[in-house]
Amino acid sequence: MTQEKKMLPYVVSNDENCQNRDILTKPAEQVKFPLNNEDRKIIEQLIYQFRHEENCAGLAAPQIGFSKRIIIFSVPEEVKDYRIDAFDTLPETLLINPTYKPLGEEKTLDWETCFSVNDYGGEVERFTHIYYEGFDANGNKIENEAKGFLARLIQHETDHINGRLYIHLLKPEARQGKLEEVRTIRKAELAAKKKIYANQD
Ligand SMILES: [Zn+2]
Repeated sequence: MTQEKKMLPYVVSNDENCQNRDILTKPAEQVKFPLNNEDRKIIEQLIYQFRHEENCAGLAAPQIGFSKRIIIFSVPEEVKDYRIDAFDTLPETLLINPTYKPLGEEKTLDWETCFSVNDYGGEVERFTHIYYEGFDANGNKIENEAKGFLARLIQHETDHINGRLYIHLLKPEARQGKLEEVRTIRKAELAAKKKIYANQD
């Protein structure tokens, strides 16, 4: 008998009523292959949650309460409308035991938000170009390079399983604030950037 799935509440770092917040700041457990039933269920739940969440670019297992090294992400075509450096689209990708390393020193500053940080956003520096690897649910290795927004997304999600949130990377001088303020700034900025890009063609 299959149990009906439900959305699980997010573990939120700045919500004092959230009981298991420490899960967000400790390294998650390595997943072993072949997957056991417990890990399979966590993966199913993460996929379910990701597919039913609106405007969700990526999720990590600790965000829904499981301290496991499992992440999921995608870059659909629409992302190009609001991320100037979304060069590559990517279908839904589940990555187990993911790691990344920078390819080059270059970093890019851009806005980030997170389901584990309520009503907040800020500008964070990330490596522009990375190499990443991990495994799919069958234990097959996945490895690739990523640039721009996809690289940012993979760094954000992989950091989650290492106990690091984007707010830990926020420099004091970085622009940051409540979501409504952030949205207003981003909207204006994106319009200006697109104009510049258009004029360069
Ligand atoms: Zn996040």
